[in-house]
Amino acid sequence: MDELQPHLGTNYTRDDAPVPEGTIVIERGVSAQEFAPKVNRTAADLVRFLLKNGEMVTATMTLSDEQMELFALEIGAEILLVEPGQQEELELQALFDDSDDEIEALQQSRPPVVTVMGHVDHGKTTLLDKIRNANVVAGEAGGITQHIGAYKVPHDGGAITFIDTPGHAAFTKMRARGAQVTDIVVLVVAADDGVMPQTAEAINHAKSADVPIIVAINKIDKENADVDRVMAQLSEYELVPESWGGDTITVQMSAQQNLGVDDLLSQLLVVAELEELTANPTGRAKGIVLEANLDTGRGPVATILVDKGTLRVGDPIVAGAAWGRVRAMIDDQGRQIKEAGPSTPVQVLGLSAVPGAGDEFRVAPDDKTARTVAEAREQRSRLTNQRGDARVQKGVKLEDIFSQIQAGEVATLNLLLKADVHGSLEAVTESLRKLERDEVKLSFVHRAVGGITENDISLASATNATIIGFNVRPDRKAREMAAAEGVDIRTYEIIYKLLEDIERAMVGMLAPEFEEVVTGEAEVREVFRVPKIGAIAGCLVRSGVITRGSKVRFIRDGVIIWKGSINSLKRFKDDAREVREGFECGIGLSDFTDLKGGDLIETFDEREVARV
Ligand code: GDP
Repeated sequence: MDELQPHLGTNYTRDDAPVPEGTIVIERGVSAQEFAPKVNRTAADLVRFLLKNGEMVTATMTLSDEQMELFALEIGAEILLVEPGQQEELELQALFDDSDDEIEALQQSRPPVVTVMGHVDHGKTTLLDKIRNANVVAGEAGGITQHIGAYKVPHDGGAITFIDTPGHAAFTKMRARGAQVTDIVVLVVAADDGVMPQTAEAINHAKSADVPIIVAINKIDKENADVDRVMAQLSEYELVPESWGGDTITVQMSAQQNLGVDDLLSQLLVVAELEELTANPTGRAKGIVLEANLDTGRGPVATILVDKGTLRVGDPIVAGAAWGRVRAMIDDQGRQIKEAGPSTPVQVLGLSAVPGAGDEFRVAPDDKTARTVAEAREQRSRLTNQRGDARVQKGVKLEDIFSQIQAGEVATLNLLLKADVHGSLEAVTESLRKLERDEVKLSFVHRAVGGITENDISLASATNATIIGFNVRPDRKAREMAAAEGVDIRTYEIIYKLLEDIERAMVGMLAPEFEEVVTGEAEVREVFRVPKIGAIAGCLVRSGVITRGSKVRFIRDGVIIWKGSINSLKRFKDDAREVREGFECGIGLSDFTDLKGGDLIETFDEREVARV
């Protein structure tokens, strides 16, 4: 309250000043100081008003929607609350003139963007490598292809762009972000192995995204290749080959021996033509971030795929919460280029931060707009992350399964399972399988050993899966992402508890959830051995607060290796009751001494969450 005192009762008060007419757009997350001037009042007016209504706020505290609305009502102002950044984005959207897109005359055909999918070991990587390497421009500087996440190859007077990450993980990750970059899917099926589980998954992914499929029947050079069998299997998935009277294009090939690869490329161009893929190459560029990372020498580096327009060096761009001017562009052959048109993948340097894969990028009218939008988005994502309860909106929740069964439908519960070791992964899978009944099917969208990562969250989000962790934990980024995307993560350390939960969900009696609230996270920097006392972990508190006596988990590479409580907590030589984010401390754990630098110490509280 201190900072308010000088204002209270001074002539800054404009209690009776007229409020602005019309709707005043206010971004959520503002303080009294920021809000009041917009309605022609001082922060002090607002604070005093709220105080009268029993709400204590200071001028710099974030106001709730209700507080702002209450005040607006009081002074007769009409306000519209929007998410931070929303307004700028709308404005930017308006500034980005899309109207040209409609003009038929400006449309030109563009290369198809192709993703290669299929079962493991069926030859996806070999195929992508063959195509890429056949097109290295000989004699160019180095003549070396760059793995930038995608590449474009010329063929028959046209061109085709390939996404360089085979498999559907990348595809789903993009879709989970609402981005669809793929125009055609090449489904690789090994002729000696036939349609396998991941082949079927890939078919389903492509179908649900409504993307045409070309089947590449690979490894026809092998003795036990059986093309007919593959075709019969494909027919079962409604992919009836043309030679069988259907309309699915199939190409027989051997990626290894470079047989039929050219034919595949030609067929891709045929499909592209049928799909009438066009874009307007003039105007400000827009597209999708395929991947991005921080390069020690070059700063944030993003591979982006231009959808439409032409991106040029010097253009001000926004990509997710990053912005900047395009400082340099590098193509898939390692060459510096000045401009990139539709369906061209290109590495971009000059961004302020690392955007996320699947983020949209746009050329902004000017630097200032680019910056404002990026900063607003950054602030918004921070706010969403802080509001931990933004979770559980999307995704089929475990508790929904019963209502689906009751409705007489066969319910499929999608699960993404992560465990500490292979043994437990198998054991958990088998036990879960035993719970399956006619009306409840379990489908594992992914099973693997290791901690729960951001990749898991994006896959779960794309497939509406519940994540089950057995003796493993999500890292902080994964947790934040799960909260933002509404993905349900359930972690267990005892198998029967896990089974009990799922079983109960199936009969509509899911027990109240004990939500664990992670209260603090510290990273072990150094370990000191103290005679008689044992090991003390010299830590840096990464987030939250570490409190003496609280329950802890000890995490190495995402796997829980120990659970117990904090025995001693010190700041320098002194005992401390709690240590906050950003500070260093010494942590002694009750009876665990096997510490290593890089380990994480996570403290948590349990609280019961009421079910809605
Ligand atoms: P991916 O897991 O689908 O990316 O499969 P890879 O491209 O890594 O291929 C798996 C294995 O199959 C490798 O040993 C390849 O050399 C081999 N392979 C790929 N294509 C062919 C092919 O056309 N014929 C034969 N005989 N082997 C192939």
